[in-house]
Amino acid sequence: MATITVDFDGDCREVGRKETPLGRNSHGRYSAKCGVPRYLDMCDELGIKATYFVPGYDAEQHPDLVREIVARGHEVAAHGYLHEGWDPGEAEPELLRKSHDILTPLIGKPPLGWRSPGGSKNEQTMRTLLELGYIYDSSEKDYDLPFMADVPRDTPRRLMTLPNNVSSLDDYPFYRVSYTPPSAVLKHWIEEWEAIRTEGGFFDLTVHPRVGYGSGSPARANVVRNLVRHMQDSGDVTFVTLEELARWCLAHEAQWQRDWRKEGAPDARQ
Ligand SMILES: [Zn+2]
Repeated sequence: MATITVDFDGDCREVGRKETPLGRNSHGRYSAKCGVPRYLDMCDELGIKATYFVPGYDAEQHPDLVREIVARGHEVAAHGYLHEGWDPGEAEPELLRKSHDILTPLIGKPPLGWRSPGGSKNEQTMRTLLELGYIYDSSEKDYDLPFMADVPRDTPRRLMTLPNNVSSLDDYPFYRVSYTPPSAVLKHWIEEWEAIRTEGGFFDLTVHPRVGYGSGSPARANVVRNLVRHMQDSGDVTFVTLEELARWCLAHEAQWQRDWRKEGAPDARQ
């Protein structure tokens, strides 16, 4: 079981920090101009569907690209408005609704998943997501497998948590912190995949189609291409979107935790 998640992270990141997204602050603009088109073609070539987390501001700037992501069979999910890498506090419910209302007509249906743009979340965040009809959150770092969120506790509605490992299955630390060469990143991610595969676990890779800390440029995108090919060559991998996975988990609650380890990753494709 594997998912490739592409966090759009366009120039909303710079605009949100009150930087003019030009020159040395133009890395985010690469996402819409080169990175996302490159990933869409690569996904077609590899025959996989991915989940694209798109901030509301980026969707406003590039509505046709968001429509194209959907038209080519991928999931679009929410990822803040201006990629709030800070705790938005009392403004958060309004920001979640604003991004939701921007994405819904572009996707043709309400988004069902959310990933915190900076890792910040609290009980009110979860309450708002449930009110908006979301079925999963992909922001937690504390478990290997999907699990049912335990907050808020006073509602019968359920929200799946689909963890994202931002330490070793995310391009950011390798290209922004340690400046690891692409060849070494590929080797690392293959090692992660083989270890997770041996456990029968859940592999959720997070990449960013921008330059700077992202995997948008050719050699870094090739890392993702070669990783997926390696995984496909193993013969026992299924690539799904996070929405497909969340739906399957919610529909098979009694089954999924038991089967995942004992019988290998379930087939959550619809
Ligand atoms: Zn992001």
